Amino acid sequence: MIITIDGPAGAGKSTAARLLAERLGFEFLDTGAMYRAVAWACVDRHVDPHDSAAVSETVASISIQFEDERILCNGQDVTTEIRSAEASHAASIVAAVPAVRLEMVRLQRESAAGHNYVTEGRDQGSEVFPDSECKFFLTADPGERARRRLQELQSRGQSGAIEDVLNQIVDRDERDRSREIGPLVMAEDAVEVDTSGQTIEQVVDFLERTSRERLGSSNLTTG
Ligand code: C5P
Repeated sequence: MIITIDGPAGAGKSTAARLLAERLGFEFLDTGAMYRAVAWACVDRHVDPHDSAAVSETVASISIQFEDERILCNGQDVTTEIRSAEASHAASIVAAVPAVRLEMVRLQRESAAGHNYVTEGRDQGSEVFPDSECKFFLTADPGERARRRLQELQSRGQSGAIEDVLNQIVDRDERDRSREIGPLVMAEDAVEVDTSGQTIEQVVDFLERTSRERLGSSNLTTG
């Protein structure tokens, strides 16, 4: 069974998806981390993220793996590096390259086959797992998303000005919405959840209740 959670940057998808997966006894797939790992590989090799041909070559030459909560690129742990401002920016540029999307989607479907997964990203319900019976689309107003992103950065010892974080988020969403393949879009059968003003507990409670209703409690572990 696959539960998909999509939405714009900073809507709280990762935290909500991780907690929901824990409550249901599912595995969790952070697909943004995969695009970030490709971006990191490009930055590391001095490949211009706008150079589609070079980015396509890069993605063909790397391996991406998850090991528990860590992400590895060619065997190297890049969990921290992929969260840098540079990798975040480059991720939404390389994510528009068709060869990158093809490979990431292939890996996502391969990982999920035969497993119970909560997957989180931009295109999970609309493109990657269109047959999922339980899809969510998380939103929040841009100011709140920027505040959350800044808190996340600060918890990792990074800093930034709220206006810059907001501009980066708006910029990234625009690129994610306007690309031709796998754009950020709500699947027609997704449940939209506005997380503005809600605690993470409230959000996850709602996601858990709805998931159990949709998927049938007997198929799921009890909380
Ligand atoms: O969710 P996160 O901020 O980690 O994602 C980083 C970038 O990866 C996004 O801005 C988006 O461009 C890209 N992405 C994507 N498709 C996904 C997940 C992330 O294009 N399923």
